Amino acid sequence: MNEVKAYGAQASDANLKELNIERREITADDVQIEIEYCGVCHSDIHQVRNDWKNSKYPVVPGHEIIGRVTQVGKNVSNFKEGDLVGVGCMVDSCQECDSCKEDLEQFCEKGATLTYNSKDKHLGGHTFGGYSEQIVVDKEFVLSIPENIDAKATAPLLCAGITTYSPLRHWNVKKGDKVGVIGLGGLGHMGVKFASALGAHVVMITTSPSKSEDAKKLGADEVLVSKNEEDMKKQAGSFDFLLNTVPVGHDMNPYIALLKRDATMVLVGAIEPLDPVHGGGLIGGRKRIAGSVIGGIKETQEMLDFCGEHNIVSDIEMIDMQNINEAFDRVVKSDVKYRFVIDMKSLKNKN
Ligand code: NAP
Ligand code: ZN
Repeated sequence: MNEVKAYGAQASDANLKELNIERREITADDVQIEIEYCGVCHSDIHQVRNDWKNSKYPVVPGHEIIGRVTQVGKNVSNFKEGDLVGVGCMVDSCQECDSCKEDLEQFCEKGATLTYNSKDKHLGGHTFGGYSEQIVVDKEFVLSIPENIDAKATAPLLCAGITTYSPLRHWNVKKGDKVGVIGLGGLGHMGVKFASALGAHVVMITTSPSKSEDAKKLGADEVLVSKNEEDMKKQAGSFDFLLNTVPVGHDMNPYIALLKRDATMVLVGAIEPLDPVHGGGLIGGRKRIAGSVIGGIKETQEMLDFCGEHNIVSDIEMIDMQNINEAFDRVVKSDVKYRFVIDMKSLKNKN
């Protein structure tokens, strides 16, 4: 086993601090990765603060990992030392159930092993994420990163990217569709970029009028401030698809009113109870509310390749590992443009 430096929290009300964790020696199927960058997802904050009531401490978050391969096991043929690779929200699954066979490991019937806070099949205890120097991952869960795009700005693609790309593809968003992306944060800004790249007419639906200029630069054709009831009414019944990234329980009724007949709103953000939905709002227009979680490994690679071809990366603010607690507070205040990425050299260089 290798002891490596990491950053984690010992309790839901504790700050993240430096600690040591153990990583396994590589098995025949493993890839060892030296982590260069790790994105800061709002899920990291939910887990550290035990918002979903399932956290195991210490929590070492991080599931938007970019790094270089340092070692591979003897069964690994598609990666070699020095390759630029990524790891997202999953590091293992059963590989045998119907969902896994259909490349939908996120729905593994035995439960995918998440990058952090999941049962660790190898070492016992629970898994530790990318706020660390190094990680060892089964070869089936390692992604190739196109070398032509900015490595640090690709980190958020591993979660924010796939979580927004997958529902846009699954619900077949296409040229000319009117798509609303609700919430301009890490997920939302990628949702705008992808919907725009797919040719949709994109409306950024935000609670923050101050983000309007940015939304347009990211690819939005229009901005709709959700607190403005008059403006919301004007757009009622006009959307083909809504991608809802709001991170907390909220009133969905005003957004349901925006959908056209037979249109769908997909929730990816609020993994918690929501306010009551008025049945009439759905029944009247045969409307649908659905959910979606990340994407399978095959689709994640497809998304990364799509980003390579279309030169799509995230808009990021780089931070040192030591500034993570302040960064968490800023994310909760919706004050990030539009994803923090940790430069992992800062962890290595300081003791
Ligand atoms: P984020 O960067 O904090 O962005 C969320 C945005 O939602 C905020 O910037 C804000 O945008 C808006 N917002 C915040 N509070 C709101 C409220 N009370 N009402 C309406 N809008 C609000 O978060 P993120 O990293 O994008 O993650 C979003 C959520 O998705 C988190 O809950 C995260 O855990 C979850 N998640 C789910 C998956 C999945 O697979 N389903 C994957 C990753 C993350 P405006 O200022 O524009 O209003
Ligand atoms: Zn995430």
